[in-house]
Amino acid sequence: MTRPLLLDALRGGATFVGDGGMGTELQLAGLEPGGCGDEWNLSHAAAVQAIQRRYAEAGAQILLTNTFGTNQFVLSRYDLAEQVAEIARAAAMNARAAAGPHTYVLGDIGPCGGFLEPLGEISEDALRQTWRLAIQAMLDVGVAGIIFETMTALDEITLGVRLARELGAPLVAASMAYDPVRGGGFRTMMGVSPADGARACAAAGADVIGANCGRMEPEDFVAVAGEMAAVTDAPLMLQPNAGQPRLEGTAIVYPRGPESLAPALLELARHAAIVGGCCGTTPAHIAAFARARG
Ligand SMILES: [Zn+2]
Repeated sequence: MTRPLLLDALRGGATFVGDGGMGTELQLAGLEPGGCGDEWNLSHAAAVQAIQRRYAEAGAQILLTNTFGTNQFVLSRYDLAEQVAEIARAAAMNARAAAGPHTYVLGDIGPCGGFLEPLGEISEDALRQTWRLAIQAMLDVGVAGIIFETMTALDEITLGVRLARELGAPLVAASMAYDPVRGGGFRTMMGVSPADGARACAAAGADVIGANCGRMEPEDFVAVAGEMAAVTDAPLMLQPNAGQPRLEGTAIVYPRGPESLAPALLELARHAAIVGGCCGTTPAHIAAFARARG
């Protein structure tokens, strides 16, 4: 079987269906609210693989590893700071096991859980050290690339992109979470615009530039993609939430069902090479999108 490198396929104009939310699916599978989803790669490997297999069967061609918080700062809250590499390795193996022959796996890196100095208390060295463990472990298993996602701080995401480059990742994707701002336009929680985010991530060496999550409606991603495309030729990746969550009793509900989200994702596919979903999107959402895409 010959499967081109993901980056070569993207540069050749191929487009891909991404996967959907992991956190919400883990909770459906029994993860306690506030529990450590990353640890499930070790203790509940079959459940993690089952979620990822459902995404692949729904039509996702790119799966993210279940490693959103796999760094010492987040894992220390669960007394697991020493197990970054072990969890990352298990996560990459779980995703590879769930992936079909034509499914790519990207090693996922979420926000580190704090702020870099001088704003916060995390040193660049400490962040590089823990992310190096996670990234190297996933590259050793043979993931197709590394993705930084739901990021809001430029210093953090560009440090990650440069590190993944140094470690030889075959593809590096960089995706930030934007919110609408009063008066128009979009910014991350830390005040980064889509153009500034795209420019800085591309300059740091990112091959794919993206937007995901955030307090935006799926339709808002068209404007964000336009701002990014104005400053970079890199392939774009868009993974919106299934609308904005609201609290119904004690349950968090995402308003956009599969049939409501699919047309929005189809429109985003005209503006981006990789389109999937983030919070609140399920295998049923991805299946509806993949069907609509044909
Ligand atoms: Zn999200």
